[in-house]
Amino acid sequence: MHRLWIITLTLFFSAAAFGQHKSAAFRIVPLGVKGGIDESNLSAYMVAPAGSKDFVCLDAGTLHAGIEKAIANKVFNIPAEQVLRKYIKGYLISHAHLDHLSGLIINSPDDTIKNIYAFADCIETFKTHYFTWESWANFADEGEAPQLKKYHYKILDPGAETPIEHTEMTVQAFPLSHSNLTSTAFLVRSKGNTILYLGDTGPDEVEKSQNLERLWQTIAPLIKAKKLKAIMIEVSFPDEQPDKLLFGHLTPHWLMAEMKKLQVMAGSLKGLNLVITHVKPPQSSIEKIKKQLAAENNLGLHLIYPQQGKAITL
Ligand SMILES: [Zn+2]
Ligand SMILES: [Zn+2]
Repeated sequence: MHRLWIITLTLFFSAAAFGQHKSAAFRIVPLGVKGGIDESNLSAYMVAPAGSKDFVCLDAGTLHAGIEKAIANKVFNIPAEQVLRKYIKGYLISHAHLDHLSGLIINSPDDTIKNIYAFADCIETFKTHYFTWESWANFADEGEAPQLKKYHYKILDPGAETPIEHTEMTVQAFPLSHSNLTSTAFLVRSKGNTILYLGDTGPDEVEKSQNLERLWQTIAPLIKAKKLKAIMIEVSFPDEQPDKLLFGHLTPHWLMAEMKKLQVMAGSLKGLNLVITHVKPPQSSIEKIKKQLAAENNLGLHLIYPQQGKAITL
């Protein structure tokens, strides 16, 4: 009995000490944060375990302009082309809309050999629409001949845990409903910690889908265990946007409605980092989105608005 008490107390105090001195698990470098119009600032987020330079890039709407900004902010201290070639070890592409992959296409002549990870239908669009000799050059190792074999397509199976080569991370991909397309949520894992990144998605109710509900069921245990460091999720329009004109996107109200469902499964969401992505210009809409999210955030979520080229450690 006495020994059990000592073990219990030791565990309690070491857990408390760990809580006070817990170190960052991930570093995110946003290369593009907006959901449209500004071609120099479209969805792309470099993510690595804290202290590592082996990043994966979540979507690739803007690469070069974002890397330049990060260098100007002293996030990186090597030339831009080296960041592209050496630090980005692969790409996770959520869906085939241009605002999520045009940076990858445009930068492909300067890039090095690496993998593009996505669901099969997204890879099919790369093969038939982008890396073709009519729209660009085929830098991949499948599709139209001749193949320049710089990129290797890695098809992700829903739910399966896949290593991200040349990094210390793995990824699990889950389907999202995005109007006429299937989009993707990526659960990136490093040493037991995770980050969840969602590509474009509408709310279940509008999309007539259960994809978000299933995703919330999957991640709720991670939130309970304090293993989920952040959810990166889109809010494209302010609440004034009518449901029939959402085109597979979220508003502040719809995001908070989804977070309430997650809270029921996860217990509390207090202090959970929620990184808001894909805000669509004009700036007046973005300001509205921020106000509306703050007004409806009675779950205690920690709202983060990423800035292009500014690192976030979580
Ligand atoms: Zn988009
Ligand atoms: Zn889209």
